[in-house]
Amino acid sequence: MRVDSEKSFGTRECPSCATEVPANENRCPICSYEFPNTNPRQRGMKLWGAILMLLLLLALVLAAYL
Ligand SMILES: [Zn+2]
Repeated sequence: MRVDSEKSFGTRECPSCATEVPANENRCPICSYEFPNTNPRQRGMKLWGAILMLLLLLALVLAAYL
């Protein structure tokens, strides 16, 4: 029985050159395209950063009006 390590991870298509890249690879071996990190925790951190920036901007606008 053959164990295909690439199959267990699945593949995703490189948006740059349309090559099937193993899902465990973060970089395309053909064109070196770097896949964006899809870590949900990191995405959440980014979202919070955006919300914080928005609140800061709102506070600055409010401060200008008061
Ligand atoms: Zn590629």
